[in-house]
Amino acid sequence: MANVKEFSVEEKLSSLLNLQKIESKLDEIQILKGELPIEVSDLEDEIHGLHARQTRIEEEINGIQEFIEQKKNLIKDSQALIKKYEKQSQNVKNNREFEAVNKEIELQSLEVKLAEKHIKDANEEIAEKARLLENAKKALGSKEGNLKHKKGELEKIIAETEKEEKDYNKVAQDARDQVDPRLLTSFERIRKNYRNGLSVVPIVRDACGGCFNAIPPQRQSEIRQRKKIIVCENCGRILVDEELNDSVHVK
Ligand SMILES: [Zn+2]
Repeated sequence: MANVKEFSVEEKLSSLLNLQKIESKLDEIQILKGELPIEVSDLEDEIHGLHARQTRIEEEINGIQEFIEQKKNLIKDSQALIKKYEKQSQNVKNNREFEAVNKEIELQSLEVKLAEKHIKDANEEIAEKARLLENAKKALGSKEGNLKHKKGELEKIIAETEKEEKDYNKVAQDARDQVDPRLLTSFERIRKNYRNGLSVVPIVRDACGGCFNAIPPQRQSEIRQRKKIIVCENCGRILVDEELNDSVHVK
């Protein structure tokens, strides 16, 4: 190991910070992409549901229209019968026959009235369904517009980030090679433990930039000296001073 250059703590921290910032860029890309595909697939599901709803309402309206046709035919049949009975009533032989024919006319008239009532109700039902259909179509139109927008956004992000992601992955590998292996192991372990993927954090307003636990002034000054690796007592993240943090830039 005699030929291996011994890095200062400050250099080790800078390499770690560099890696952290690259990894955070990659995390950002994942977050950007991570939400849109879900939004797009949710919208596709909703649109599928609305299409099914539209078809169902249209089928219901067709069913009601068939029902109305049946009732109209029934009215025609009854009216034909009424005409026939009216003719018969002029040629009846006795009172009993007259009453019987009249009874039939009355019955068929009731049938007509009932069918007319059914048609009126059915037309009201169709009007209601037509309103529902109109709403479903409006919702569908707005969701489809939304989907088109989100899909475009996602495709744009994918197109934009593909190259960026590749580039960051490449520099991340270079950055990883610069980090002390034991520190790298700690770095990866801490990163995995936190959803925001932060392993190395600066002091922010006298507190840990990862968990916001207050850091005593004495400890802050030790961190600023950059003589040893200091971790947050609360969350275990590696702490750096703000100045060092600001000095490391990732394109
Ligand atoms: Zn902390």
